[in-house]
Amino acid sequence: MMAQYLALKADAQDCLLFYRMGDFFEMFFDDAKIAAACLDIALTARGEHDGVAIPMCGVPAHSAEGYLARLIKAGHRVAIAEQTESPAEAKKRGGKTLVGRAIVRVVTAGTLTEEALLDARTANWCVAIGEAGGPGSGGSVAIAAADVSTGRFELIETDMAGLGAELARLAPAETIASETTIFDEAATMLRPRVEFDSARGEARLKELFGVATLDGFGQFSRAGLAAAGGLIAYLDHTAKGSLPFLRPPRLQRAAQQMAIDAATRESLELTQTATGTRKGSLLDAVDRTVTGAGARLLAADIGAPLMDRNGIEARLNLVQLLCDDSGLREELRGTLRSLPDIGRAIGRLAAGRGSPRDLGQLRDGLNGAWRLSERLDRIAEPPVLLAALAPQLRGHGALIDLLTRALVAAPPIDASDGGYIAPGYDAALDDLRDAGAGGRRAIAALEADYRARTGIAQLKIRHNGVLGYHIEVPARVADALMKPDSGFTHRQTMAGAVRFNAPELHEVALKVTQAGAHALAAEAAHLEDLTQAALDKREAVAATADALARFDVAAGLAERASEGGWTRPALVDHACFEIEGGRHPVVEDALAKRGERFVANDCRLSEDSRLWLVTGPNMGGKSTFLRQNALIAVLAQAGSYVPAIAAKLGLVDRLFSRVGASDNLARGRSTFMVEMVETAAILAQATSHSFVILDEVGRGTSTYDGLAIAWAVVEAIHEDNRCRCLFATHYHELTRLAERCDALTLHHVRAREWKGELVLLHEVSEGPADRSYGLAVARLAGLPPVTIARAKAVLAKLEAGRAKTGGLAAGLDDLPLFAAAAEAVEEERDALRTEVETIDVDALTPREALEVLYRLKALA
Ligand code: ADP
Repeated sequence: MMAQYLALKADAQDCLLFYRMGDFFEMFFDDAKIAAACLDIALTARGEHDGVAIPMCGVPAHSAEGYLARLIKAGHRVAIAEQTESPAEAKKRGGKTLVGRAIVRVVTAGTLTEEALLDARTANWCVAIGEAGGPGSGGSVAIAAADVSTGRFELIETDMAGLGAELARLAPAETIASETTIFDEAATMLRPRVEFDSARGEARLKELFGVATLDGFGQFSRAGLAAAGGLIAYLDHTAKGSLPFLRPPRLQRAAQQMAIDAATRESLELTQTATGTRKGSLLDAVDRTVTGAGARLLAADIGAPLMDRNGIEARLNLVQLLCDDSGLREELRGTLRSLPDIGRAIGRLAAGRGSPRDLGQLRDGLNGAWRLSERLDRIAEPPVLLAALAPQLRGHGALIDLLTRALVAAPPIDASDGGYIAPGYDAALDDLRDAGAGGRRAIAALEADYRARTGIAQLKIRHNGVLGYHIEVPARVADALMKPDSGFTHRQTMAGAVRFNAPELHEVALKVTQAGAHALAAEAAHLEDLTQAALDKREAVAATADALARFDVAAGLAERASEGGWTRPALVDHACFEIEGGRHPVVEDALAKRGERFVANDCRLSEDSRLWLVTGPNMGGKSTFLRQNALIAVLAQAGSYVPAIAAKLGLVDRLFSRVGASDNLARGRSTFMVEMVETAAILAQATSHSFVILDEVGRGTSTYDGLAIAWAVVEAIHEDNRCRCLFATHYHELTRLAERCDALTLHHVRAREWKGELVLLHEVSEGPADRSYGLAVARLAGLPPVTIARAKAVLAKLEAGRAKTGGLAAGLDDLPLFAAAAEAVEEERDALRTEVETIDVDALTPREALEVLYRLKALA
């Protein structure tokens, strides 16, 4: 057995091996130690290997799911070795009685389908990264992403720069890449390079979807095919050949979505907070969906706001319909709430892990969808999206009818005891069940008969797995039955009871057991047929699931909008951003819980006022104001109403947020370094259609450095990027930029000192802040009075000094304009370029090459 175990373990590589032994999954050696610690179960020992006791632990097979869930959560992967034959079969095969075992599946975080192992409201992506022309060739990069619990399959074409953003959006449970990849930092699993061969990937895709060409799905790049190939090979590997449900791939290009990089996503806490929880995120504050599929779609929508105005308007039209008609909304939500998750049910069935209950869910879900479509049909002048989706809810008549006739009302998850096929569906099955029931009645009659015959009132007919049906009497009255002519045969003596058999009982029991076994087999055959019938329609079922999810999202958004008095955003062609009475949904919720009111604020960015410089005291509400506007852009383009009285905006192609000096020690970079890296990304990528919020840039370094950097960044954004931008700063000196930058305007969050107390009004007003109130905030925070008094004295000295020297920003007004400075840099760079262009690389000796390098260095 150990030899067999070790061979399987070698095959399982770095996965934990669940080795099936009867009713248990056992683990040995280091696997046992890891699992015992992780699962908090007893570590025992069994036998010896090389003279050392073998550590072992085990979990019951029937409750393995819960243990698997914990191991997967803890970051492990588990290979399941099942018995592939019964002990009887093994005996028949040859002298040895060791049953055959094989790894039937590798359970990994990205390839789960089980309800118990998944979060109903979160998509579970497994992604593969593909690179064109082999690793490091620098060109295009693609991500293939599959959620095998529902069959969703996406191919995302991107590039080196966009990869991080896409991965952050998907937040995959598992990321695989070729073992030769340069993206090994992003990958959780490296696979053989051949699996990422693009030609092989293309062939596999064609074979999988039974097409001669992939053109129907879109134009895939080499990188895309490599990624898809790698992903499918991995899924093949984990499912050991029986590939889970995959729908045809949907091609996504980064340009179809608002670009949001990983840092921005993190700082805006779109779908999870900085600490990784859903609670406290924008998604959580918006989500009023009533189904798992709806919640998953909303998360996807918010994570990937659209760039296509028609698409956004279509979603908004549906939300508006449901906003305006609260009766319809309630009806829709009521029905949706009662529907099972058919997307995941069909996923489990397709993965070969379906149960009678999944078929029952399919029946109920499809039925509900049909009812819903009849209600939707009654809507006069339906919006385009509704008209397009409603037909997808229908068309499953035959399947619904079949499942309704075939299944009992509430089929069990476990098929092994039968009882899920409805009476009347199969006459032969009914007969078998009747025979079984008749037999059981006969056994009850026998019991009465035996009691009368023996005069033992406590006599019982029982059933167990070892003896089958048998007669049991208390030990003290058993003697009468022990007599040879009693008609009873002794089988077993227990502590207080003795067990017997009898010929009549034997005969009847045989009939009952046979009928039972035949009935079970008949049910199992039906289960297989029904599953196949459902799978034949899996594409259409998945489309129905999608449509239901879209309705749920729209109804949920409408509900949220009505609750909070949100407004429909107006999308326009020019790059404006005009929000009247905007609010931050998460902060507002938090304040409401404390019984406080959120102060709504306007934001009016336009062609001649693109850049708002916001000053004011700490805790005054600057960050909140910046973020709320970024979130409004996200919500609007995701097709949601927004928390404001009125909103008008031109589409945002890229959103950037650099808020707060969050430590990123985990990535091994200092706060200031992170801040600069992110700021650099913004300056490099923001276009005139982008929206940027920057908070306290330069805070991470010394005052002079910080001010200098902040100054230069504001100028660059104003002159070069020309994007819409909200820039919060505590450098009062920056307000002088208003004189140099014509599209920059000054704003501040209002505060007042009243009877020596600081009152923060959280109101955004025009003009610069009159002072910084730093000491007042410090007092508010509870700094001791002595310290405050001391700080006041220091401040007075500093300010006196500043007045004498002309202050921190003395002389800045004499700086040349940004454009002139940029020209100077350009000229310098030109000198460098001219020099580089004159080099004839092939004509250089190594020594000359070195000299050239020195010359270039001097020029730079
Ligand atoms: P700053 O960036 O200026 O330091 P924040 O935006 O972090 O200030 O806000 C500090 C706190 O003030 C928030 O946590 C919130 O409780 C409160 N606050 C901010 N904006 C508002 C508002 N518009 N209405 C009410 N309270 C607000």
